[in-house]
Amino acid sequence: MHPVPDDLVQPFQIDPFRLRGQLVRLGPVVDEILTRHDYPEPVAELLGTAIALAVALARALKYEGVFTLQTKGDGPVRMMVADVTTAGAIRGYAQFDQEKLARAMAAAQASGNDLQGSVPRLLGAGYLALTVDQGEHTDRYQGIVELNGATLAQCIHHYFRQSEQVEAGLKVAIARIPDADGAKRWRAGCLMIERLPIEDEMKRDAEDEGWRRAMILMSSSTSQELVDPRLAPQVLLYRLFHEDGVRAYKPRPLAAQCRCSRERVETVLRALGPDDLADMTVDGKVLVTCEFCSKVYPFAEAELAALAER
Ligand SMILES: [Zn+2]
Repeated sequence: MHPVPDDLVQPFQIDPFRLRGQLVRLGPVVDEILTRHDYPEPVAELLGTAIALAVALARALKYEGVFTLQTKGDGPVRMMVADVTTAGAIRGYAQFDQEKLARAMAAAQASGNDLQGSVPRLLGAGYLALTVDQGEHTDRYQGIVELNGATLAQCIHHYFRQSEQVEAGLKVAIARIPDADGAKRWRAGCLMIERLPIEDEMKRDAEDEGWRRAMILMSSSTSQELVDPRLAPQVLLYRLFHEDGVRAYKPRPLAAQCRCSRERVETVLRALGPDDLADMTVDGKVLVTCEFCSKVYPFAEAELAALAER
């Protein structure tokens, strides 16, 4: 038996109704990112969800560079960043307040409410930003929307509704599933369908109807199906949309990969003043830790002095 393809984006189209979609499947990649950070479960769940959403949204856009999904809020999870490059390199991190999180977890338990994926309880009031960075000498595109919804997916739907050019729907899931060795591993999945603009007015009614059907079929998919490691992406698409003529394209691989480098850290340090650097110096050294991948870049005082002169 062939292994089921994993860690990928599977693009597809439902041609008769001019619908374009992405099915994101994340296994070892999302497990590596979330396990490395060793976040408390509610934080890991939320960041894993953000990563799966970022991949789906990134693939739906035409761009070359880096797509970033970022949240900022006044809840226990102060900030989350998930980014993905056109080549499929993914990374992400979250900043959270230990005490606030413990309080939110206790409150959820006391009231019998589920904390999982809850935007109001975990992120609080704030905003969600989507950014496309295509490198130097190009315009950055940024869309910002208030955190308005019970889940991250609902916040993104809110964004779609606000932005008139996009008619799209999505469904996302995350779970920890025992692998062959019985160890629990994170898995995430996301299904996104976008409607292309109407070209032929004569077909509007048929396309409206096809769009509604696709949304119903998408919501009929279960969280289990979205993350099931034994269910191949193409099989899932066929199961959901075969009657409407779904066509799958070549999947794009995804990898857990950071883009940090000593040069980038140097650029950041060079922008700091001598007082800031002095504050960061411990035992004659500054240790800079990448928030995405936890890699540590050490700088001795002599190196810092040399940086300042350049
Ligand atoms: Zn890094």
